Amino acid sequence: MKQKHTSFESMKLNKSLSKSLVENGYETPTPIQSASYNPIRSGKDLIGIAQTGTGKTFAYLLPILNALHYSQGSMPRALVLVPTRELVLQVVEAAELLATYCDLRVQGIYGGTNIRTQSARIAEGVDLLVATPGRCMDIYFSRVLRLGNVKTLVIDEADRMMDLGFMPQLQTIHSALPANHQNLMFTATFSYETVTLSEEFLVDPQRVEVAPQ
Ligand code: AMP
Repeated sequence: MKQKHTSFESMKLNKSLSKSLVENGYETPTPIQSASYNPIRSGKDLIGIAQTGTGKTFAYLLPILNALHYSQGSMPRALVLVPTRELVLQVVEAAELLATYCDLRVQGIYGGTNIRTQSARIAEGVDLLVATPGRCMDIYFSRVLRLGNVKTLVIDEADRMMDLGFMPQLQTIHSALPANHQNLMFTATFSYETVTLSEEFLVDPQRVEVAPQ
């Protein structure tokens, strides 16, 4: 398999995803997208060192949405954890844009708003869940959310997660996931805290690093 993709065509994305990329004027993968697509698709754990603005969100969303393919079951098969409500909204927006022509359910949950409304939306069924760790844990403990079907976990902005003290919540969520799931971690900086997180959660990860754009 080629190590890097110089075009979206060579990724052999499904037609629905390709159509959204074309319609929204995305022509060429950014370096983080091109370098991380194959490792993510192969099921490996991965550490992406990439800052905001490098296209890191699509770097994990494209292979995940391509693999989810269409709606299935009621509980999430991919879980993206981010540190803030703003990021939940941004990642949901990016996923909805890419999934415009896919039959996939994307939901975002975060603290500071009514938990019942969010729980009710989860109960309706979700394929890709984007969440802050605290709210994810609360809805998990209320038994509305089950995490046994998650195949891929993304920890985005891992350095900010550590700064905000989310390690205990991440550990609880991680222990609720199936043993053989894939872990993807994205961080702008590779600090002592992010190394600790990766050593605890990731198994033989591939490291992909890109310069800020
Ligand atoms: P990030 O926060 O790193 O995910 O970067 C997001 C920004 O990069 C968004 O404005 C995206 O629309 C843009 N972006 C993502 N992928 C590409 C691409 N392949 N070509 C051009 N812009 C992109």
